[in-house]
Amino acid sequence: MAICTGCSLLCEDIEAAEKDGALTHVKNLCRKGHGHFQAAFTERTVPMIDGEQVDLDRAITKAAEILKSAKSPLLYGWSNSTLEAQAVGIELAEKLGATIDDTSSSCQGILMERILSGKLPTCTLDDVRNYADTSIFWGSDPSSSHPRHLSRFSYYPRGEKRQKSYEEERTCIAVDVRKSATANLCPNYYFQVAPSGDAQFMEAILAVLEGKIPRVGDKKKMIGLGSILKKTEWGVIFAGLGMVYSLQEKMDLFEKLLARLNEITTFKVVPMVGHYNMRGFNELLLEKTGFINRVSFKDGKPAHGPEHSVVAAAKTCDAALIIGSDPFSALPFGTARALAKVPLIAIDPRRSLTTDGAKVVIPSALSGLEAGGTGVRMDGVKIKFEPIMKSDLPTDEQILTRIMEAI
Ligand code: SF4
Repeated sequence: MAICTGCSLLCEDIEAAEKDGALTHVKNLCRKGHGHFQAAFTERTVPMIDGEQVDLDRAITKAAEILKSAKSPLLYGWSNSTLEAQAVGIELAEKLGATIDDTSSSCQGILMERILSGKLPTCTLDDVRNYADTSIFWGSDPSSSHPRHLSRFSYYPRGEKRQKSYEEERTCIAVDVRKSATANLCPNYYFQVAPSGDAQFMEAILAVLEGKIPRVGDKKKMIGLGSILKKTEWGVIFAGLGMVYSLQEKMDLFEKLLARLNEITTFKVVPMVGHYNMRGFNELLLEKTGFINRVSFKDGKPAHGPEHSVVAAAKTCDAALIIGSDPFSALPFGTARALAKVPLIAIDPRRSLTTDGAKVVIPSALSGLEAGGTGVRMDGVKIKFEPIMKSDLPTDEQILTRIMEAI
């Protein structure tokens, strides 16, 4: 069996083989996972310096030279790398006195921080399968982003205490700005919020839980939602980017809602992490520095703050190493433009806008398919995996170790 690293569900039951540059005998891989692995055969990177193909050793040596001569290097990405590679990356940042940040910095970091610090109650996906009778998909659409989420854990499967499953024992609720694929599965329990209206919607839920008339939404429907929540035995909120982006500095309200729900019944939060090992990086950096992201080792000791976020550091760094991430596609234009002005090293198994714009490109083996290691699922469960295919390419961990040795 193989592990799919296509998203942070890290499905462990994948069967696949390769023949003539294509996947064959594939079982249990969803369409997203299939695309993730298949791209390894069609969109591979090759070692490059300034757009010219070079051998791998030369690319690694050049990367080490750039980082060694930089005064304020930035190391960014990490969410598609194994825990083992992330550990070497943190060591490298320390050695270089660099800034290190990951993709959570501009997506779910503020939610993850509250979960890892214990401010928000959480649980495993196996708990959800076994006990949850109410699942709320809030600003998240697993049918599109994590295609096997509903069938493996949150809606369709039978669990220890939920033998009648979705037919009788599970209620699925969607809160979103649009009627997503997931919302279409539960049209009677779809609650549309205005863009940036999640805080108002939370206040409305708090009001109905107190027996007051809510100020937003269809009042009758909101009162109905209040009674579903009160009758819930064991509930979970799958918090997605839609909610996090909308709440931002109002995240305290989410804590307040969870505290109130837990006075009435049991409610947990699971972050709908996208990249397969973003949570792993957050947990590892927290363990080593006390912070989940946005850390600078410039003065020896780890310092944390918004000035060390990728968005800020891109404007002040004089070299950057990007690993397992595509900031040219994913981050704001100003950040991508700032990164494009400095010598950029990209370590990635596949071509992207960032690898196309990098000074040095170092190809790596694809985790799960060609490289083994450990990942942390969205719910914090550690999953070890072995490669299912042989590859001549080094793993992220091996590349980073070689760069560190060269420095
Ligand atoms: S749900 Fe995610 S981990 Fe599972 S097969 Fe699909 S892409 Fe891979």
